[in-house]
Amino acid sequence: MKIKQIAEIIRATSLHWVGDGFPVNTLFSYQTQGNDISPFLLLDYAGPALFEPSDRPRGVGQHPHRGFETVTIVYQGEVEHKDNAGNAGKIGPGDVQWMTAARGILHEEMHGRDFTKNGGTLEMIQLWVNLPAKDKMTAPHYQAILSKDIPVVKLYDDGGIIRIIAGEYAGTKGPALTFTPINLWDLRIDAGRKIDLHLPDSFTTILLILQGSLRINGTEMIKGKELARFEREGDFISLEATGNTHFLVLNGQPIDEPIVGQGPFVMNMPGEIEQAMADYRAGRF
Ligand code: MN
Repeated sequence: MKIKQIAEIIRATSLHWVGDGFPVNTLFSYQTQGNDISPFLLLDYAGPALFEPSDRPRGVGQHPHRGFETVTIVYQGEVEHKDNAGNAGKIGPGDVQWMTAARGILHEEMHGRDFTKNGGTLEMIQLWVNLPAKDKMTAPHYQAILSKDIPVVKLYDDGGIIRIIAGEYAGTKGPALTFTPINLWDLRIDAGRKIDLHLPDSFTTILLILQGSLRINGTEMIKGKELARFEREGDFISLEATGNTHFLVLNGQPIDEPIVGQGPFVMNMPGEIEQAMADYRAGRF
């Protein structure tokens, strides 16, 4: 047993809009952190933000992706998705969409129709997960993972829960199919509770607080819209909730390959980005 030490703490800084529907803080990106965050590439945390009722759906119009997966986790509000492979769907609070763009997809991401009409609070996360080079040009795939299909493990008596979106916790497996080993857990822990999370040695580990605050390894405190990235060495982290706390644990085996990206394309070599742009322009997505 060896504790995973904190490598860095990142705090939300400037907010920017993705389309006209998603006011986001980008909490990490391969553009700045490179392979330190592998297999993860980027995390946008949208909201919580209040939207007034409207007749016109807000969001991001049709755009491409190639070379990775987008994972959308909705906490409040509704997101509707439509892509050129014929997939369409609406996800709401607690639901997750795990989209494998792989060799290429065109999609739009909009607020749900009812949410647009009625207004309300939107809170969601979009995580980009890299694909190994050998899988970057496989067929696109879409997993709609509804809240009811995500197993929940109760912690303590009733002082916390852990939703297992991907990977495994204490023998309970999450529904998401992944290309490389990934644990994605959504936890809520009452104030005063402590937990030791056992995580694979040599994996990347990132912990993002949505609400509340945690004391990590008995010392550092992090709170809402802050994240801690840990050293790969070690196999557990020790947490204490210092308020009622909602947080996400991202843990994955690093993909030790070069990363070259531009906008919605993330590949291994510059020539593959040029190819992606040429394919997109030629309507080959
Ligand atoms: Mn997209």
